[in-house]
Amino acid sequence: MNAVTGEDVLNELPVLNRSDLQTEGARLWSTQGDSSTWRLVRTSGTTGEPVSVLVDEDTRLAEGMALAEHIDRCLGPDAWRQRTLFHVTLHAGAASSVMSAPSGWASPAVKWNLIRSWQTEDDSFIESLGHLNGHIVTTMPSVAELISSRILSTGAAGSTIPLLVVLSGETLSDRQREIVEAAFDTRVTSLYTLAEVGIVGSECPAGGYHVEDQVAVVEVLDDLRRPAAIGVEGEIVVTSLVNRAMPLIRYRTGDQGRWENAPCKCDRPSARLFLARGRRPVSLIAESGATVNVVRFAKLIAGLDVQRINLRRLGRGSVAVEYEAQGLLDRSAHSLLESALRSALGPSASIVVRRSSMTQPDVTNERHGASPLHAEPAGPNAHEVAAWIRSALTNWPGVKDVEAAVITGSYLDAEATTRFSDIDVVVLLQETAGGFAWQRIVALVARLRSQLPQVRVNVDSLSAVRTRAPLLVCRLLQEQLPLVGALTTDNLPWPSIGSVRAHGKYWTQDAHALLWTWLTDPSLERKDVLPTAWLAAKQSVEALRYHYLARGARVTASREILAMAREEEQQDLPWLEDVAEAFDVAREHRPPPGPASSPSKRYISASLSCLGFVRDGL
Ligand SMILES: [Zn+2]
Repeated sequence: MNAVTGEDVLNELPVLNRSDLQTEGARLWSTQGDSSTWRLVRTSGTTGEPVSVLVDEDTRLAEGMALAEHIDRCLGPDAWRQRTLFHVTLHAGAASSVMSAPSGWASPAVKWNLIRSWQTEDDSFIESLGHLNGHIVTTMPSVAELISSRILSTGAAGSTIPLLVVLSGETLSDRQREIVEAAFDTRVTSLYTLAEVGIVGSECPAGGYHVEDQVAVVEVLDDLRRPAAIGVEGEIVVTSLVNRAMPLIRYRTGDQGRWENAPCKCDRPSARLFLARGRRPVSLIAESGATVNVVRFAKLIAGLDVQRINLRRLGRGSVAVEYEAQGLLDRSAHSLLESALRSALGPSASIVVRRSSMTQPDVTNERHGASPLHAEPAGPNAHEVAAWIRSALTNWPGVKDVEAAVITGSYLDAEATTRFSDIDVVVLLQETAGGFAWQRIVALVARLRSQLPQVRVNVDSLSAVRTRAPLLVCRLLQEQLPLVGALTTDNLPWPSIGSVRAHGKYWTQDAHALLWTWLTDPSLERKDVLPTAWLAAKQSVEALRYHYLARGARVTASREILAMAREEEQQDLPWLEDVAEAFDVAREHRPPPGPASSPSKRYISASLSCLGFVRDGL
């Protein structure tokens, strides 16, 4: 009997294109196995062809094991498993969260989005990074490069020293590695990963990647789909050995690479794979001139019913979206895409979406790595939004009925915003405005909100606010970016301390009930900690506003309120540390803590104590 190797058998099979995954979809899903643990992974990759891949639990476990084995090779099998595995991102789309750790890890894994901390001053950004000290950091090379460049430019090299930095998701250049090593003063290693498969290869100290044999079979094929000779570049084609939910056999990755079989010193037997043409992030330019990474839209794009999509930047705040699909995008998909782009690029960005027959996605510049990297803004710029709403209001025929319109609240302070923050607009109509004015402003506000969903508009009359909402009056006077007219103590007198106190008593009663409902939620500790931290911080800051306003202070902005509480040395405020931590977690200036310290319960309890303290003093 002739020996038939696995490779011979594989060679006979057809290759699998991304378009096959798109057209066959669920037909490639397995009908065997426990589907309750399967997850749908969506990726648009760098080719602009969104695919969905069903991944089983074994694939997730194998990924954790491959990562752990690679860290063992780098650090030795010591106590690193006690350290936290931080997955660091830097784009507005991803929320920070605590994830279950790969098997064998003692601590949870934490996804930490640094985009909000990135918007702060150098000192506080560098201080935030301190949370990574002594832990294992995984991230994309472009993210590590941005963070490292900032560390180096502020002279803070070595101020944060992770135990190890593991880079994957894009091709790592020598220059990037040098920058990251210099900034973090630690060992840097890399993995070759595919969202569809997991960790395909891990770095050899002598260069290139050893294939993770237990995870995948890797082929490098020439233009005629034959195995490329050693040293000759071709397309990387991967067969997943683990995923039974949706087996990918001879899957074309779109990545280019070559084999090298020069011996290395690390004793791993397989030949080494060297990646060529790099995967690099593609970016757009916002109206403000800021750079926006297309990765931000990956999840959204992957959910669209298109074969291929290409986001092409035409200039500042201008983008052309071209897609190939069987039919036109439906209206809801279209508006979802448009509002996501507008949120990132600016409210009056020019967005042209059209169906086309494309040949190749236009990512040429990025492929060759010519464009410099920039971090993107965390959200639309308050001044851009202001200019846009101001122009909508002043061109609106009913503007004569508007006494004043302002943007107020946390959106005015980039360092205080969270991913839950709305852009709060208050429009105050004149006393003389008739019913018709009230009716037609509804249409205007609905139009604004359809273009920028984060906008919340409160329409009221000046006299109603003056008599019924003392705290809002204080906030409007202290925190306003005028759009039409202006609010001063001439048209909106500062409320009396008596009215602030009376109102504060009602408010604390309601807030107390709300916090108790959260505290006694049986699923509290299983829920995402970020919204809980946000609620606890928001309620505490609001309570402290009443506290200080009732004492005659004229301060309402959240960071200033917390700073005042911290300076109150004569008072013993044992809950203040937890409230401040909740505020930092909600803003993502620190990573969400793992469940061991029961953070959600701690934050809500601290907020209740804060409320009690304020109520007793009113
Ligand atoms: Zn090696």
